[in-house]
Amino acid sequence: MIEISHVDKWYSPTFQVLTDCTTSVAKGEVVVVCGPSGSGKSTLIKCVNALEPFQKGDISIDGIKVNDPKTDLPKLRSRVGMVFQHFELFPHLKIIDNLCLAQEKVLGRAHDKAVTKGMQLLERVGLKEHAQKFPAQLSGGQQQRVAIARALAMDPIAMLFDEPTSALDPEMISEVLDVMVDLAREGMTMMVVTHEMGFARKVANRVIFMDRGEIVEDAAKDDFFGKPRSDRAQKFLSKIL
Ligand code: ADP
Ligand code: MG
Repeated sequence: MIEISHVDKWYSPTFQVLTDCTTSVAKGEVVVVCGPSGSGKSTLIKCVNALEPFQKGDISIDGIKVNDPKTDLPKLRSRVGMVFQHFELFPHLKIIDNLCLAQEKVLGRAHDKAVTKGMQLLERVGLKEHAQKFPAQLSGGQQQRVAIARALAMDPIAMLFDEPTSALDPEMISEVLDVMVDLAREGMTMMVVTHEMGFARKVANRVIFMDRGEIVEDAAKDDFFGKPRSDRAQKFLSKIL
């Protein structure tokens, strides 16, 4: 579903942020990306959605090359859900309207269909009774669940997450992870930047470890947690586990 092939990226002529990154995420697979701060995880995931350009290599989603100038990027992005650290809901819109906006504007869904879909998804993330509230009236964990529901409303073919729980108070982390675990078990294709190794252990198929812009390790979950091959990954794991 996601093919990343020999990607190099420079933020400036003297600063190479990604070096020869190659990996893939098969349909229905859950791949967790971890690694030290500044190692290029966010940059890589943004390249997947063409939110950042890259200078060498190729990335394709469902066979469509994101770095082909002929690709309709807004259309492609509408098919790939993205959830960031900060939930970025529209503050002036009620929760249900947050869920309807892109369904109507981008997919051209009729309002009543969008509302029905939005309510189904709010129910799925346990927030149906909050549909008429504004984002500021919800906790951080609830807002992040709304952000996930909003992404799902677009019927994405894959979901990208960039540290979706790292801005949350500890007691709210599990409610967001639970939603993500359900999604993974339902077969969603997911690429998830996170340091929540409990999540990785539960649902990841593979774990990628990045350091200094390189994919240092790309292993089946049990191999990764059993014994990472590289010193760098071992050191990283010993610090966070
Ligand atoms: P991570 O998500 O693993 O913490 P990032 O992808 O955010 O890493 O950043 C990788 C490196 O690129 C860091 O050194 C960061 O400071 C730098 N960086 C990130 N975004 C930009 C940008 N827009 N312009 C220049 N440098 C950036
Ligand atoms: Mg990051």
